[in-house]
Amino acid sequence: MSNELGIDLWIKRDDLTGLAMGGNKGRKLEYLMAAAIADGAQVVVTCGAAQSNFIRQLGAACSMLGVKCAAAIMTLPYEVANSTSLVISSNVVSDVSRGRVQHNPALGEDRGNLILDKILGIDLRTHPDGTWEELYEYAEDLAKEYEASGLKTYRIPVGGSSALGAYAFYESVSEVTESFDSVVFASSSGSTHTGLAFGFHESGTQVLGIACDPEPDIASDFAELAKGLKAILPDGPDLSANDYDLNFDFVGPGYGIPSEEGNSAIERLARAEGIFLDPIYSGKAFAALIALTKTGELKGRVLFWHTGGTPTLFA
Ligand SMILES: *Cc1c(COP(=O)(O)O)cnc(C)c1O
Repeated sequence: MSNELGIDLWIKRDDLTGLAMGGNKGRKLEYLMAAAIADGAQVVVTCGAAQSNFIRQLGAACSMLGVKCAAAIMTLPYEVANSTSLVISSNVVSDVSRGRVQHNPALGEDRGNLILDKILGIDLRTHPDGTWEELYEYAEDLAKEYEASGLKTYRIPVGGSSALGAYAFYESVSEVTESFDSVVFASSSGSTHTGLAFGFHESGTQVLGIACDPEPDIASDFAELAKGLKAILPDGPDLSANDYDLNFDFVGPGYGIPSEEGNSAIERLARAEGIFLDPIYSGKAFAALIALTKTGELKGRVLFWHTGGTPTLFA
């Protein structure tokens, strides 16, 4: 790929972190589960899209530690920009007035991560598609249900994105012993981006997140995570929403929906290097890397941080 792209390309293989088929969530879980155990958790409750890589890895971590894992899921959660329009592309919204979204039904069937979630024994509660806000409410209802049954219940936000999750990624930068012009990765719930931004701060390395979620507001959620991380790392930078280098040009049709560019990037890297990406996150990020190399916006020595997600290829 380096020869094809005319850059010195390196890949950080977080698809090989090991836990339950790998991915970036393994790093976060090292800290999140410690906090859950310290809190005496008997059940951990979260939520996400049906093909969530976080829920899969969380389910494994919980099971290994003797903690029940429960998750509220939707095939395709979406954002509502205001009461009448959805921030999702026109070819997937069939009838906004009825609040219905059409999507590839295969995503919600027993494929990909859902197969693994069942093997792991996760208590999955599937809800009809709706907004992220609705999904958060379902997760809260689920947590209350477990509390009512007398179990000590621990809540983990979507994607494991809390200050502790971001801390895990701050720490991961110590594994990077070469210097790079840019680090490029898929960005969604923000703790990967926030941790890497702290870790590479003052290194001169550009920290470029490729958004996999279409709404520009996510940067303000990221800034909240930065505040939380700064409380743990007082010497870290003050990051406001504008300080995040977040490129929205490669989301494609919407969150959780594969793009043509992403799919062809998956084929290209697989055929050139025998490395598989995923259609929701890392494939789109690698499509961005290819495109930005062509325009000269990325050059020199570039680190692609492979965040995992490969089980989704089977969905
Ligand atoms: C969750 C996830 C991301 C995004 O990480 P965040 O910390 O949520 O921004 C990227 N790639 C894959 C494969 C993921 O599962």
